This record gives sequence, structure tokens and C-alpha cells, in this order.
Amino acid sequence: MPSPIAHSLAGTATWAAMDRRRRIALFVLAVLVADLPDLDFLPGLLVGDANRFHHAFSHSLGALVVVSLAAAGVARLLGANVRAALSISVVAYASHLLLDMLAVDTRAPYGIPALWPLSNAYFLSPVSFFLDVRRSADPSRFWISLFSNHNLHAVLREVVILGGILLGILLARRSCKSTEPAIRGSD
Ligand SMILES: [Zn+2]
Repeated sequence: MPSPIAHSLAGTATWAAMDRRRRIALFVLAVLVADLPDLDFLPGLLVGDANRFHHAFSHSLGALVVVSLAAAGVARLLGANVRAALSISVVAYASHLLLDMLAVDTRAPYGIPALWPLSNAYFLSPVSFFLDVRRSADPSRFWISLFSNHNLHAVLREVVILGGILLGILLARRSCKSTEPAIRGSD
């Protein structure tokens, strides 16, 4: 699995690509939703086995639909843009599933149940762009085990790949903005 830094960068890239108006609430939503599936570590930490519930149904199409509809519902209650909240949630959640499938996974069952509830099969790309984040299943060592040379290397790789994609999106957005008046002016 990639680190929360990778998922937060993917959430930020989603927001940068989809929200022309740069709304802070949508940025927070995109980053939260992009990281949300990995909250499945919490029940495991409570029962003494951090990995017990990881890569289960929070990493699936079914969870994507539930979370995105919930985000749209909250946006509606708050009088915010429902369509923007729904679309950003769908893409940010999907980015988490995609990144996890593109990462090294050394624990069975390998991959994620991406299509649950349509299928219980686990999916993992044969080609890995990201390293795994090594951690202890023992809750007393879980947090300290995250600080290792291997995990530092994993995070640096994530920053290079996803930071590069984010930078590309920001530069493309900026060049679109700078050409808009010229295009309008030529109408
Ligand atoms: Zn995950």
C-alpha cells in the first residue's frame, strides 16, 4: 500500500484538475476521501492486530458509492454544490483504489476487492509503480515501525511520481487560464 502522503497528493491532484474555482472545502473533501479507505487500520489497532481488517471492503466499488453519496448528501445539507462534491469524491476515492492496486503488496490476500459487492475477487496490478509501506501488526510497535529507510524510500518515490503529476496539472491549468482571454478575444 502507498503511504497517506501518496493518497493526499492524489487527492490534491484530483482537486487541482476538477475544481477550477479552487474552493478550499472541496480541497479538504478530496484529500479526506482520498485517504479514507485506510481508516480500516483503526479497528485492527483496537483489537491488537493492525492489519486484520486492512484491504477489505473499504477498498471497493461499493464503499466508493456509499462514501460519494454521503459526501453529496452532506453537501446538499450544507447548501454546497452537490454535483462537485459527488464527482470529486468519486474520483478521489477511485484514486485510492488505483494507487493501492499499483503498489507492491506483500501480505495475503494480495491486492484489494475492487469490485465488491459485484465480485469478491482481489485485484493487484502485475506492474508496481509504488513500494509497500512496511509496518508492524503489533499496535504497540505500529507507529514506530513506520519510520524506516525502506518507508522513506517509498515516500520519496511517491513524491516524485505524484508530485510530478500534480505539478503537471497545475502548469496545464495555468497555461489554460492564460490562453482563455486570448481565445475569447478572437471570437
Ligand atoms: Zn488503502
